[in-house]
Amino acid sequence: TPLKNIRNFSIVAHIDHGKSTLADRLIQVTGGLTVREMKEQVLDSMELERERGITIKAQTVRLKYEAKDGETYILNLIDTPGHVDFTYEVSRSLYACEGALLVVDASQGVEAQTLANVYQAIDVDLEIVPVLNKIDLPAADPDRVKAQIEDVIGIDASDAIEISAKTGMGVPDVLEAIIARLPAPKGDETAPLKALLVDSWYDPYLGVVVLVRIYDGVMKKGMRIRMMGAKATYTLEQVGVSTPKKTPVDELGPGEIGYFTASIKEVAETAVGDTITEEKRPCEKALPGFKPSVPVVFCGIFPVDAADFEDLREAMGRLRLNDSSFEYEMETSAALGFGFRCGFLGLLHLEIIRERLEREFNLDLITTAPSVVYDIFLTDGEKIELHNPADMPDPVRIDHIEEPWIKATIMAPDEYLGGILKLCEERRGVQKDLTYAGSRAMVVYELPLNEVVFDFYDRLKSISKGYASFDYQLIDHRAESLVKMQILVNEEPVDALSIIVHRDKAEARGRAMCEKLKDLIPRHQFKIPVQAAIGGRVIARETIAALRKDVTAKCYGGDATRKRKLLEKQKEGKKKMRQFGRVEIPQEAFIKALKID
Ligand code: GDP
Ligand code: MG
Repeated sequence: TPLKNIRNFSIVAHIDHGKSTLADRLIQVTGGLTVREMKEQVLDSMELERERGITIKAQTVRLKYEAKDGETYILNLIDTPGHVDFTYEVSRSLYACEGALLVVDASQGVEAQTLANVYQAIDVDLEIVPVLNKIDLPAADPDRVKAQIEDVIGIDASDAIEISAKTGMGVPDVLEAIIARLPAPKGDETAPLKALLVDSWYDPYLGVVVLVRIYDGVMKKGMRIRMMGAKATYTLEQVGVSTPKKTPVDELGPGEIGYFTASIKEVAETAVGDTITEEKRPCEKALPGFKPSVPVVFCGIFPVDAADFEDLREAMGRLRLNDSSFEYEMETSAALGFGFRCGFLGLLHLEIIRERLEREFNLDLITTAPSVVYDIFLTDGEKIELHNPADMPDPVRIDHIEEPWIKATIMAPDEYLGGILKLCEERRGVQKDLTYAGSRAMVVYELPLNEVVFDFYDRLKSISKGYASFDYQLIDHRAESLVKMQILVNEEPVDALSIIVHRDKAEARGRAMCEKLKDLIPRHQFKIPVQAAIGGRVIARETIAALRKDVTAKCYGGDATRKRKLLEKQKEGKKKMRQFGRVEIPQEAFIKALKID
């Protein structure tokens, strides 16, 4: 295909604004799949992605489109994840494109993630075509949203396309705009091969599959290639395109996006952002590299039943095959036994992995409180990265501690602004900006990531009745007065409940956690003290009164089924309990104790 007949583009949008629906429609209209093959939202392949309506792995589809000018074009659509945790995947996908469709729900307007994603697209110099979706809805107000796009994002929205991805209205205009308004890729077919490694994943039939964007030269079956960063060579076995069915082709030329297989054993051998060239005729200079995505949120994951440890290890290995941003290493906890310390890109990423472990591998798990990575500077000049509060060195050896800070952008109707500002202030936030676009407020705060990883997003949603949107990026590390707080249950420290907290907040947090645990830990036949302590100093205390527990006592013998049900329930509950000395703590307590109301 000549370069002038190729267009590579992405769709950027806030979650739920209709990106997947539009992608489906484009595939359908161009005949990429037969009706029988056309399942709803073909791009969101994993079950979990479908349920949560998010896209995790960037997928790509090649569409063949006969335009009104009579020529046939190849359109490569690279799907991008919409959630804050996956901004890295967004950036590398955008890099492989020349343009982007900015999809905005015409009944909602611009949201925080719209902003984050569109700025990334602008940063890599993409041509942007604004698309107003859901104009079939009575609440759609395209003129207001156009004005807002110009005000808030600062791009021309006068020729924004008005569509309904649901009914298909306006979708042909989108295809024509892709041809007319997005630039064709550039490249030299005769030059040495130069390709960008966009993504890779493990396919049960094909093994490791690598998604590439070709800049110069051609890639064909049998060719010996070199990955310039990884300094490894391979022989190409299959070269193809995704329609989205994997379809082998003879070769991929400049401007094209496709995949290859090459007997690569592990996804970990393929560094996203690496430059691929031909071994015997290499290109001179590699493409500018990417910053790898590093995990920023860590937590412990333990099997409820110690006998499941090996199964958990295997399950993690399987997930890691397809997600090299998920890290894990073995950890032992005095309270929870053998398990793993795991690193994630963010909270959603954590939740997705945990749910997949439980659902796809049928494991019963205890997840400890998420924590960020602290830089601990010791008095002897050494610096350590602390991934687990339980490993905090002796305070006398510590010179100072630095924690990661983020810049958060929150957008919401102005009636919720008061509550949002209060939440940010409570979480040690520093306000940086406050602006309005119509009746929507946009506020920018700098916040410690530690104050956000736990339940910030849930709280924000409840304060704003679901109307606030939120996005963040890491900015720097700052020295803060931080201490490790331990929780003691029946005089014994429960390491999985240790947290690192700002000194000024320690007492209030300690009190709140003890109160919560008092309700979360069932009564035993003896009295149980629950204490929060910093070093040896107890800063809060509650006591769980003794009680003889007999759940069937209130059944007065009569109803046997009810009695059996209660006993089964109790047994079920027991399974999810952990024994700490003489005390049983329910699994849910490890997360619930940390929630701040
Ligand atoms: P994504 O998160 O951006 O991928 O959004 P989806 O494509 O999953 O769409 C989110 C929701 O909006 C789904 O329930 C869609 O059916 C609905 N939706 C998408 N486009 C339209 C549209 O044009 N009109 C209406 N009324 N609903 C739409
Ligand atoms: Mg989607």
